[in-house]
Amino acid sequence: MSQVTLKIRQKFAHKFKQGQPLIFKEAIANLDRLKEEGTIVSLEDEKGVFLGRGYYGRQNKGYGWMLTQKETEQIDQRFFEGKFAKAWSKRKAFFNNPDTTAFRLVNGEGDGLGGLTIDYFDGFLLLNWYSEGIYSFKDDVIAALEETVSFKGIYEKKRFKTGGKYIEDDDFVSGERGEFPLIVKENGIQFAVYLNEGAMVGVFMDQRDVRRTIRDDYSKGKTVLNTFSYTGAFSVAAALGGATETTSVDLANRSYEKTVEQFAINGIDYEAQNIVVQDVFDYFNYAVKKGLSFDTVILDPPSFARSKKKTFSAEKDYKDLLKQSIAITEKGGVIVASTNAAKVHMKKFKGFIDQAFKETGHKYTLLEEFTLPKDFAVDPTFPEGNYLKVLFVRKR
Ligand code: SAH
Repeated sequence: MSQVTLKIRQKFAHKFKQGQPLIFKEAIANLDRLKEEGTIVSLEDEKGVFLGRGYYGRQNKGYGWMLTQKETEQIDQRFFEGKFAKAWSKRKAFFNNPDTTAFRLVNGEGDGLGGLTIDYFDGFLLLNWYSEGIYSFKDDVIAALEETVSFKGIYEKKRFKTGGKYIEDDDFVSGERGEFPLIVKENGIQFAVYLNEGAMVGVFMDQRDVRRTIRDDYSKGKTVLNTFSYTGAFSVAAALGGATETTSVDLANRSYEKTVEQFAINGIDYEAQNIVVQDVFDYFNYAVKKGLSFDTVILDPPSFARSKKKTFSAEKDYKDLLKQSIAITEKGGVIVASTNAAKVHMKKFKGFIDQAFKETGHKYTLLEEFTLPKDFAVDPTFPEGNYLKVLFVRKR
């Protein structure tokens, strides 16, 4: 593989010295050196002092990642073996827990490997490659996994464009082929997972602690509205926690059968639950017209979405989403507000909550606050990596 020296502008050099791993555009003084993704880059400050070594790979976040600060260390199979062995040993508690058989094994830069995540689903590994650059290390990565992790089979998702397009195939890489749905467990809750059907596999594991909290502390005897419900994972948690009724709303047609499936594999009578295929914003209007209200309302929208009528951007529209939710939440009820929008950090998110309650003339109490769970490791020098923010708020 080719190797080039990348000059880091002096005013950013200290960041890399401290271990900040993202190779961002403004930091690079000789951008013209970057030609082929996957090129190994040695980072130097403008005085020629070695800062670290990494690779060139374009993602929305930047131009690649620094992977080591040791001048003698090469990026090869042994390097990946070291990272995987460490990631595995950090997550021993997960491997030893029969109630949770799905978790993140490698969380990109949080485990020293910017651009690659690896999830563990009951013996199967799912690799998410976020750039053509990191994908060029595939052979070394697979060989290193074979040396360090015990697994049945490997699947992958290429989360970058090839020839201007995202390619979706059946994503099988090596080992044993899985039978889908694969049934995994999370704190005793079962989820049907498909590793062979595109980037979204059926459950977002970063909400594990939130689902447990909803099940254990916010469901018994409650009516629960789950908006942007996808496969209904929060609804399943609520139903298992003793909710009197759940309502799941998502505009994707596939969400109906996917939600039925998640209820069914948990032994819940899905016919006793409401599963609505509709635009959430239309559903809010419908609920107001019908005088419906709920004890618990869950909001987990994508950062950005375009539906037929409008676009939703968490940064611009979350406050209004909250206002509409407050209107159909019982007094004393709880809103679970979640966002993974990078631009909406926790302080800003709390500001949206405060404004929404003020503008609707209600008081509130902040009950719980969540960020990423332990297996979604975050690099302390790169706090932007902690994208998840979840707040539980009581309407008084
Ligand atoms: N809360 C889910 C994950 C949500 S993923 C979970 O815990 O698993 C985002 C979902 O929002 C997708 O399923 C998408 O179909 C849905 N969505 C996007 N815009 C929507 C809208 N305007 N109304 C309803 N659903 C929407």
